[in-house]
Amino acid sequence: MGEVARLNDYTLGDWQEFAQCRGRDPEIFYPQRGVPTASAKTLCRECPVKSECLEHALINEERFGIWGGLSERERKKLHRERRRKQQSSQFC
Ligand code: SF4
Repeated sequence: MGEVARLNDYTLGDWQEFAQCRGRDPEIFYPQRGVPTASAKTLCRECPVKSECLEHALINEERFGIWGGLSERERKKLHRERRRKQQSSQFC
């Protein structure tokens, strides 16, 4: 079975099987404050389950590390933007 077909088959929960970071040093995804995150974000950019990873982090309020190519601060910003959009759409 090809990779594309397999990706269509995955369900919530087993997306991690396809993670680009699988088997990599987790330290690059949990850098110390002030340490560049570019190498983690480069892997994420090419990851076939980037969206699933990011949604998992947002739903589970993951506080630390790089998820779906975004840092904690970037995820908080995205979360605020989504909440703002959701609230404004409720009043239209
Ligand atoms: S998006 Fe990044 S952190 Fe998430 S599974 Fe892919 S490589 Fe790992």
